[in-house]
Amino acid sequence: MSLRELYQEMILDHGKQPRNTGCLPHPSHSHAGHNPLCGDKIMLYLNEDEGIIKEIKFEGCGCAISMASASLMTEAAKGKSVSEVESLFNLFHRLVTEGESADDERLGKLSIFAGVAEFPIRVKCATLAWHTLKAAFENKSDQVSTE
Ligand code: ZN
Repeated sequence: MSLRELYQEMILDHGKQPRNTGCLPHPSHSHAGHNPLCGDKIMLYLNEDEGIIKEIKFEGCGCAISMASASLMTEAAKGKSVSEVESLFNLFHRLVTEGESADDERLGKLSIFAGVAEFPIRVKCATLAWHTLKAAFENKSDQVSTE
């Protein structure tokens, strides 16, 4: 199996069986996200305590890339500080738009999305969960849209 095939397998696996799904009863932050280009929707819930993301869950429906990205984003964000997650999003954004920083060890499993850079229309699927997380921190009351 090539590295590329392995990455596709991991995306399909997380897309079919996303981790950290469900809702939190009393989230400190929550936000809805929508990618109208593809029809991906997520609802994100998290509990932040003293700047650390203690719990994070999502509910959603959409394509395999959007669901896999939300699944891996929640895994990556849990236990991290808000500022760590913000810099991770910057790295991830460069990864999926320019294919850069794929070898950055801070990305860990997130580097499986490097191939998305070849498909610009998929970038919004891959970044939806991250945009929603950012909006949740900023406490924007409106639904975030990738458009
Ligand atoms: Zn999508």
